[in-house]
Amino acid sequence: MLFGRKRKNPIKIADKKVKEWKYTTCGYCSTGCSMEVGLNPDGVPVATRGVAGADVNRGKLCVKGIFEHELFTSSGRGKEPLYRDKYFRNFNAVTWDFALDKMSDEIKHIQNSYGRDAFAVISTGQIMTEEFYTLGKLVRGVLGTNNYDGNTTLCMASAVSGYKRSFGSDGPPGCYEDFEHTECLMAFGSNLPEQHPIIYWRLKEALEKHKFPVIVVDPRVTMFAQFADIHLPITPGTDLVLLNSLAHVILAEGLEDQNYIKTHTTGYEDFERLVAEYDPVSAAKICGIDEDMIRNVARLYAKVGAAMSIWTMGINQSTHGTDGVCGINNLNLITGNIGKPGGTSLSITGQCNAMGTREWSSCSGLPGYRQLENAKHRQEVADFWGIDANFFPPKRGMTMTDIFPAIETGQVKGLWLIATNPMTSMPNAARIRKSLEKLEFLVVQDTYADVETNQYAHLYLPGAVWAEKEGCFTNTERRVNLIRQVCKPYANSKPDHWIFTNLAKRFEQGRKIKFHETTTEIFDEMRELSEGNMLDISGMGHKILEEKKGIQWPFRKGDKQGSPRLYTDGKFQFLDGKARLLAMPYVENNEVPDADFPFWLNSGRVVEHFHTRTKTGKIGNMNKFSPTPYMEINPDAAAELGIENSNYVRLVSRRGDAIVMAQLTHRVSKKMVFIPFHFHDCVNRLTLGLLDPYSRQPAFKQNVVRIEHIDQDLAARLNVEMRTF
Ligand code: SF4
Repeated sequence: MLFGRKRKNPIKIADKKVKEWKYTTCGYCSTGCSMEVGLNPDGVPVATRGVAGADVNRGKLCVKGIFEHELFTSSGRGKEPLYRDKYFRNFNAVTWDFALDKMSDEIKHIQNSYGRDAFAVISTGQIMTEEFYTLGKLVRGVLGTNNYDGNTTLCMASAVSGYKRSFGSDGPPGCYEDFEHTECLMAFGSNLPEQHPIIYWRLKEALEKHKFPVIVVDPRVTMFAQFADIHLPITPGTDLVLLNSLAHVILAEGLEDQNYIKTHTTGYEDFERLVAEYDPVSAAKICGIDEDMIRNVARLYAKVGAAMSIWTMGINQSTHGTDGVCGINNLNLITGNIGKPGGTSLSITGQCNAMGTREWSSCSGLPGYRQLENAKHRQEVADFWGIDANFFPPKRGMTMTDIFPAIETGQVKGLWLIATNPMTSMPNAARIRKSLEKLEFLVVQDTYADVETNQYAHLYLPGAVWAEKEGCFTNTERRVNLIRQVCKPYANSKPDHWIFTNLAKRFEQGRKIKFHETTTEIFDEMRELSEGNMLDISGMGHKILEEKKGIQWPFRKGDKQGSPRLYTDGKFQFLDGKARLLAMPYVENNEVPDADFPFWLNSGRVVEHFHTRTKTGKIGNMNKFSPTPYMEINPDAAAELGIENSNYVRLVSRRGDAIVMAQLTHRVSKKMVFIPFHFHDCVNRLTLGLLDPYSRQPAFKQNVVRIEHIDQDLAARLNVEMRTF
């Protein structure tokens, strides 16, 4: 294979002259890879490498992690706070004192004029856990607005609601090590090799040690589906029908674990009655999976000693995402597959610290999985912070997806966005744009000044990124890991916790509550607050986290090792200690293809990019591999429409249009197109985003479009304009 050459060219690895390696944890996805950033003699980050002794990744990194050191100096970083009195005027650079004084004045003005809840806060899954805790203390304990949420409502909210409905609390019960013990794995709506490459590598490693069947449920022939033993190409949005039908077969054939059901669950009679209606013959007509295949998969899953399910956005981003999660939990409860090695319901989370916000940000309640609705929890936190428990709202307020409609109706007048980019990430982008225009005061706190949502900001606060500060992330399997500070914050950007603490000082109540200066002090406070709870981190500290390269909670004082699994004793978080088997009928409520809009529109991730590309769109190699949005279309559908590979086309939905390049592939069926969701002014110009009733998470994946031809030169020009930073 030398093509005429006589000698092989040796592979040369550029000498980056690394003088020192600093320990940290990847700031992209929730896999939680331990890594080290190499600094040259001038202290400049020049390389990244995986940490061999780390249990999560064992020295490996995916392509995003390998180039992560390039983040620190990528283009578009915010240098100074910026202010303007109207969003359509030019920004002026201001001092931090001016910016925070202005922000506190505007918040006070809005809250005094319209009520505390008229100022809303939407955060992220990107900042450190200590920062989430500090933000929660500021919002719940000082500002007192109840309209406070995180962008995790767009990705993991249905998993949270599903865990709470089934088990009485959030908290993924399993871990990656379960791959080593399982005898059957079923993955719902998860393209693991592209979304979480290192978790996929852990799965492959386990498969090499002992072969077990891998079943992938996905409407698209994803990379994961191609590697699977069985692929179930389900009709979009019908997972609950398949899950109810699998349970039907298991109960009808007596394959359930009656002992586990009797000892550890309630609700069996209603559940049994409901799933009796989902015989495979009827279910097949709705979910599109052959009746015999449903029976075979049910038998396979129920008969093995240990079976596990994983899922990602294919389940969560649906009008019945929470029901889908509970359906997965039902399946594992009736087969006795919770809390044992290889038997679990494991949601694969999205952002690097999506778990940290769930645990400590107080978005959906109070810190450490405490609830606003629980009087004991309210008093505990109020006493700990030194405030009156009545200052807390009686129950959770609006989610992110309800806050934007509340701006339209005038209930919300001011908004603070922290490391989130709704102009690209929210469905029905045109509606979001209109909402942002209406705000009296919008603060955008972000690492990048060119983040799209900043177009509508009055105040921009430059936040330090990732390893420019120190703190913790929690990964998918409840592993808390440390990010050491690798270099100083860029220009005059500040760590997010510094911003929260210094804003708090500008409020009377903020001067009464203790806000710490360092993340080590903040972690100490969290540790104290966690003691004796399910989410107990009282044995952790920054030093031991680095030594052990991450520890799974609960990890109590005196513990020698973390806890790989929850519910190992079959005791759940409801008062009676039992899990709930839930009877959930399927209701068809999605937008479905018709004569005007004949194609399903599906969306998902590519390996090179992360979320709205604010980071990866600036990194040469990432962007070079995947520079432009494209649409996967089946070659037969393309031939009927006269579309050739690499043609630009215009997609039209009832909400708007988008221009994409066609990629002909059999990965999608003849009735479906797929678009990566990372690109601005693209897929979310088209999406409707109906909401799940429990989690309020949008159905990003069940929308319909038609395909139109477009002038190729015009399309190319528009495409470049939309992608230029
Ligand atoms: Fe980072 Fe996720 Fe890649 Fe690991 S798999 S290097 S955590 S992006």
